[in-house]
Amino acid sequence: NIDEAGWNLENSYSRLSESFFSIVKPNLVQSPKLVIFNNSLAESLGFNIEHFKSEKGVAILGGNELPEGAVGLAQAYAGHQFGHFAMLGDGRALLIGEQVTPTGERFDIQLKGSGLTPYSRGGDGRAGLGPMLREYIISEAMNALGIPTTRSLAVVTTGESIARETYLPGAILTRVASSHLRFGTFQYVAKWCTLDELKSLADYAIKRHYPEIELDENRYLSFIQEVIKRHASLVAKWQLVGFIHGVMNTDNMTISGETIDYGPCAFMDDYSPTTVFSSIDVQGRYAYGNQPHIVGWNLARFAETLIPLLDEDDAEAIKLAQEAISEYPGLYRSNWLEGMRHKLGLFNEEAEDEDLFNELLTVMDNNSSDYTNTFVALSFDKLQGISLFDTVEFTEWHEKWQVRLSRQSETIELSQQLMKANNPALIPRNHQVEHALESAVNNGDYGVMEDLLKVLSVPYAHTADQVKYSKPVQNSVPYQTFCG
Ligand code: AMP
Ligand code: MG
Ligand code: MG
Repeated sequence: NIDEAGWNLENSYSRLSESFFSIVKPNLVQSPKLVIFNNSLAESLGFNIEHFKSEKGVAILGGNELPEGAVGLAQAYAGHQFGHFAMLGDGRALLIGEQVTPTGERFDIQLKGSGLTPYSRGGDGRAGLGPMLREYIISEAMNALGIPTTRSLAVVTTGESIARETYLPGAILTRVASSHLRFGTFQYVAKWCTLDELKSLADYAIKRHYPEIELDENRYLSFIQEVIKRHASLVAKWQLVGFIHGVMNTDNMTISGETIDYGPCAFMDDYSPTTVFSSIDVQGRYAYGNQPHIVGWNLARFAETLIPLLDEDDAEAIKLAQEAISEYPGLYRSNWLEGMRHKLGLFNEEAEDEDLFNELLTVMDNNSSDYTNTFVALSFDKLQGISLFDTVEFTEWHEKWQVRLSRQSETIELSQQLMKANNPALIPRNHQVEHALESAVNNGDYGVMEDLLKVLSVPYAHTADQVKYSKPVQNSVPYQTFCG
């Protein structure tokens, strides 16, 4: 029973325990208007693009109507925010349902900024246009970079103002995720629900994201191990492109291993492990260089929730969880090393590779060298225009790297191909994202954003029109991001 718009909804989450969610009625907004829509994503989901742009389609994207077959709910979850445990839940999001695509995949379709829910606490349930467009740009850029992430289908303005430091135009983002199950969902259920409920959630998550382990002897242990693997891989990918999430609370970590919650995130320009953009991260807990460690900490909080399912014997269960967690640092390291080898054109492994990589990063740090552009220059062997390349310490490193390259059988051409495929020509530069948002929010001009999305959609193409987007801007004031 697929309708004209292509909705093919299931509501498997709503059949889990009622403790896990609250049914939410649509909150009516004044005059929803579609300002950006992701045609290719819509197509892959089986949606009829023209229908989505019609009055009826926009009413759904604005949360004024639910599509046929939708339940409409807000999900309950807890989480450690900057280390402190709290009850949270979808305070401004409405899960429309699970779209089953023409190829049989299942994706949550969720409205973000769609109004109050029972979990709104002190918030207004709303979102500003700027932050929702920002999430759209960065999440789509992440997807194009090959990094698992939630996607953005559309942004609708509501015709209403929301009160922040000033009044902002209100907006709703349609977010697409392979699910919105979070580490924090498990923390909530482990703390406040029954053991049977915890089991049902774990079985649900396994069926949805890790069906290959369903028949394992200890499937809950396998579940922990698989989530660890996905996150070791995910955070290595963040590090390799210089992505800084900014708010790695356990409620912002997905069970699927997709990046979620694009609030104060931003990409690093000059390489420095201490880089922080978020205005609220005053301690640097979520600094670039700390991200792998924080993922490990978050994984431990997740693994703890499943201890009651691991073994009848408590001590044995704790031991199993600890053993699983102890695998994480090595898994992260091997993912990162493999990625760095590719960034530097290496096909084989040598024991000293890690030293070689760390030496390069140290000289980049010492010389405040742009992370993205340095690797692009190395890929093209164009060692001009970056002051790092004139230093003695770089020249010495470069010599070692050349010797290392000569020890493998692949040609230099093949190495350069590998590098170009692993070093993006561009990232969403902070000043360009800001410029796109200003044009859209202040002048209603979405052309700048559309152009930016287009060049960001092929980051490994290294085309001529990407060059003008590749320049970092040196600001006298450090770039700061805010939660929107
Ligand atoms: P975040 O920092 O985006 O992960 O959000 C943390 C929690 O605050 C989540 O429970 C959100 O749903 C909630 N939240 C954020 N903004 C709002 C808002 N404007 N109204 C209600 N809840 C919100
Ligand atoms: Mg969040
Ligand atoms: Mg957020």
